[in-house]
Amino acid sequence: MVTRRLLDRLWAEGAAGRSWCRVRRAVRPAAPERRGEPAPEQRAVPPPAGAEPSDSLEAIAAEAAACTRCRLGALRTHAVPGEGARFPRIVFVGEAPGEDEDRQGRPFVGRAGALLTRMIAAMGFSREQVFIANVLKCRPPGNRSPEPDEIAACKDYLRRQLALLAPEVIVPLGAHAARWMLGDTVTISRVRGRVHVYGAAKVVPTFHPSYLLRKPEEKGKAWEDLQTAMRLLGLR
Ligand code: SF4
Repeated sequence: MVTRRLLDRLWAEGAAGRSWCRVRRAVRPAAPERRGEPAPEQRAVPPPAGAEPSDSLEAIAAEAAACTRCRLGALRTHAVPGEGARFPRIVFVGEAPGEDEDRQGRPFVGRAGALLTRMIAAMGFSREQVFIANVLKCRPPGNRSPEPDEIAACKDYLRRQLALLAPEVIVPLGAHAARWMLGDTVTISRVRGRVHVYGAAKVVPTFHPSYLLRKPEEKGKAWEDLQTAMRLLGLR
């Protein structure tokens, strides 16, 4: 059960001055049409057909650490394959490592990561109970957006990870993760608020935590999306 205290923690950063009542109004229940059948979408990456028996998360991490399939391999300090539970019910997928992540080799450890950790906690999970990954395993210089050829070169790592993890729900964070899963032409504002599918998993796109740090007024919509994910997991 999500408590007011947890919700307050979710909204605390960047939402100073918003009263609880205003947050409650912003966090209205999803519209009925948003709770219906998964909407079919064009997919950028074929859904997982099942993991190869010989594959493992450790093998993927080792391959990424030595990978030179794109230019980012020569620039990284550490590859950031992702981390979390071996059999998570839910997987969060971001865009690419930033400076902090590149230094530590772990996903979402900067300011955006702190917000994501609070979002996960507000859902009733710890980071160790979910899996957190990115579309790219290496940091683009200057935190620029991933280039299409980099995403294409890296896509098999995330595809294999999702096949092994076999989550019930995937939450793409931001446009790049949503496009990886739902098609090159989608925008996050068009696909969020609805349930999509990727293989056997339900897909609930929402805003990237970095965007929410810049636009705290959008946190209400993000919380709607997380509530949708919780409903799909039977947690609400
Ligand atoms: S970003 Fe992906 S494809 Fe590019 S070098 Fe890193 S692991 Fe390899």
